[in-house]
Amino acid sequence: MTIANATASSASDMSPLVETAIEILADLVSFDTVSSKSNVDAIAFIEAYFKRLGATTVRIPAKGQEKENLWVTIGPGRQGGLVLSGHIDVVPVDGQEWTRPPFKLTREGERLYGRGTTDMKGFLACVMAVCGHIHAAQLSVPVHVAVTFDEEVGHIGAFELAAFLKGQGIEPAAFIVGEPTRHLVVDRHKGSVGFTTEIVGREAHSSQVHLGINAIDIAAEVVSLLNELHIVQRDVLADDAYPYPYPSINVGTIRGGHVRNIVAPGCTLEWEMRPILPKQLSAMRREFDERVAKIISRRSKKGMDAPEIRTRCLWDAPPLLSDPASQATSIALQATGHNQTSGVSYGTEAGVYQQAGFPTVVCGPGDIAQAHTADEWISVKELETCLLFLERLIAKAGNPLFDVNGG
Ligand SMILES: [Zn+2]
Repeated sequence: MTIANATASSASDMSPLVETAIEILADLVSFDTVSSKSNVDAIAFIEAYFKRLGATTVRIPAKGQEKENLWVTIGPGRQGGLVLSGHIDVVPVDGQEWTRPPFKLTREGERLYGRGTTDMKGFLACVMAVCGHIHAAQLSVPVHVAVTFDEEVGHIGAFELAAFLKGQGIEPAAFIVGEPTRHLVVDRHKGSVGFTTEIVGREAHSSQVHLGINAIDIAAEVVSLLNELHIVQRDVLADDAYPYPYPSINVGTIRGGHVRNIVAPGCTLEWEMRPILPKQLSAMRREFDERVAKIISRRSKKGMDAPEIRTRCLWDAPPLLSDPASQATSIALQATGHNQTSGVSYGTEAGVYQQAGFPTVVCGPGDIAQAHTADEWISVKELETCLLFLERLIAKAGNPLFDVNGG
């Protein structure tokens, strides 16, 4: 990896620090922070760690949930600086065949097993370890750490954190979201927007279809419409950064009707769109709504209530499309030694921060292939690379180089 040539430290200098990071990772993995559960114990643990370092911390309670975001500031309390950002929630382990305990770190040679090691407690552990060696008094711009909840269920914590920063007038120069990219600098990814469409028809005996409005029939029309809108998206210029180089639409579930001999009174579709650009979403939605209105008027029967088609957006995780000239892109490239950026297919909180006006890229340890799997693991080498990356990043953000072993 290019970072191994870093001038600030060499990989061999990293061994005490990597051991510290592994110890912290073991602590983080031991908190069961599956998104459906409270994260306050894990946040309290991380906050206490940063408080011991003399950092300023703010716990931001979630709206209507027993969860919190954490915002940490090391160094001068001024604008600019760097944000090292990660989510503390993890996906469930239910139904997966784990051969090691998911919430206890297991070290086997080069591999560290446990839920969240790759996605993305490994990055947070490296951030905590490196921050333990920052000489805060020497920092010219602040180093912030953001720890969020509910990334895995719609990026809710990131939306609330972005709103908090806007409300407080805090304007960091660069957000680095440490999702697993194997330290490639990712400056674009698709968005992910979830919808549910509920169709309300009218029940009738199946021998008297003229008295009913069949919601399943209407749902079939809506599914065809979505397929059509999906195909239209393929006319736009392909972006080869993605394995599927177009915006996509997928209908994931369809549920409706009671029994064979009743005209189905209701049917519900769950579907999503993955736009490359925000305007693709708005164009699709406009077209969808117009065409749905036509379906309703065509399906309305004289003297009866019109069928209803109600579509709700469940979540809207925006795509990431960073400004190539932003400080986030340039310092991440310099800190990794790469000379070009990459795109990924999966979504991250980076799109939320970018949409809020904060220059953002994704770059972190581990491989997305290990995320969400049974026996999730990260390699010690990836953590080592991450520590070097973070050290250089903090220096490139405008701070003097610091000795990671000099603490
Ligand atoms: Zn993640």
